[in-house]
Amino acid sequence: TSFGYKEVREEEKSKLVGNVFSNVASSYDIMNDLMSAGLHRLWKDRLVSKLNPFPGMKHLDVAGGTGDVAFRVLDSIKSVSRRAMEGTLPEVEEKTQIYICDINPKMLSVGKKRAADRGLGEERCLNWVEGDAEKLSFEDASMDGYTIAFGIRNVTHIEKVLSESYRVLKRGGRFLCLELSHVDTPIFKELYDYYSFSVIPAMGELVAGDRESYQYLVESIRRFPSQEKFARMIGDAGFQKVEYENLVGGVVAIHSGLKL
Ligand code: SAM
Repeated sequence: TSFGYKEVREEEKSKLVGNVFSNVASSYDIMNDLMSAGLHRLWKDRLVSKLNPFPGMKHLDVAGGTGDVAFRVLDSIKSVSRRAMEGTLPEVEEKTQIYICDINPKMLSVGKKRAADRGLGEERCLNWVEGDAEKLSFEDASMDGYTIAFGIRNVTHIEKVLSESYRVLKRGGRFLCLELSHVDTPIFKELYDYYSFSVIPAMGELVAGDRESYQYLVESIRRFPSQEKFARMIGDAGFQKVEYENLVGGVVAIHSGLKL
């Protein structure tokens, strides 16, 4: 059966996305490593280095079920604390709060389990929150930073996600988005198309026993706005100094904006 994406009505989309991630949650990590040849780890490192996390910050990672980004933010804050804040560490770390928000409780369970495996099961800085990126439960101007990694492509209304991120950020707060994007270098584009249309669905079938979810993944990459268009949408949501960086020729892009 084909996934018939175009016929899927909007109100069904979030349910569908929920199912996709429930199906893949267990094989999620291994597929990420395989599909990106391990590169997603470096991309996430890059995202967090652009955030410049600081001790005492309040940070929100949306669509962050697996904890991948949140763990990096916490590591980065801890290394800053150790280097620069000897002596004041407990108070500062007490104030640090990282919220991991995801619509799918199964993804959050995967993340919590991974936190426990890393010895972060009792970590008071980490808060796991079930919620929708389009309608966040956080107060206005309550966050110093906002990240969303490989999450915005799957939402129903990108504009709502952007306006919600703007709402919850404090002035001076940074929005950062890591997302699979568009390649337009001629030969590389052909290779990438072959890889995504032929190799990825086959890998999904072989490793996760689920071809359709990975077919959907590839189609959703094609539908996502170009780097330039997405940058304009971020600006339309109110953000200033909007810029983006392509990684691996646009296979992924990191967009950033400031609430000033
Ligand atoms: N950020 C993690 C990473 O980079 O490994 C997870 C990315 S995963 C591809 C996408 C996540 O987005 C899933 O955990 C899914 O449950 C979540 N998601 C999808 N729609 C969402 C929404 N409307 N609000 C919040 N999370 C959503």
